[in-house]
Amino acid sequence: MKYPYPRPTKYNVRVKKSASGFGLFAEDAIPKNRFIIEYWGKIISDKKADELGGKYIFGLENDKNISGAHRKNIARYINHSCQPNCEASLEGDRIFIRSLKKINPGDELTYNYGKVYFESYIKPFGCRCVKCAKKITGR
Ligand SMILES: [Zn+2]
Repeated sequence: MKYPYPRPTKYNVRVKKSASGFGLFAEDAIPKNRFIIEYWGKIISDKKADELGGKYIFGLENDKNISGAHRKNIARYINHSCQPNCEASLEGDRIFIRSLKKINPGDELTYNYGKVYFESYIKPFGCRCVKCAKKITGR
């Protein structure tokens, strides 16, 4: 199956170690409401997504999912946060990660993975985002 190459980003980002394994970090200052990176991969059916399983499946509507495990999909390193600085915006069958606020060089990029993903993959292990970590230490 043919699929388009990810839309190029204007900003430098880098994969680095974070609190939860690896994360994607901004190397440039990024203003609010900008396209940063595409979450990119092959489009697969719900059935195929269930067979593959795993955390790199991004569910779309109408029996479509993006399988983001490809090494070119650097956006797969973006971690979940309950208080994110990015959002995943759906345009057709493509997912563009955009900034929700001004991001400084060195900041980790995060977006909210959504309720379904959170319930099945994050909640059982405990969320390690900055907001939840604060809640734990403040107890
Ligand atoms: Zn959290």
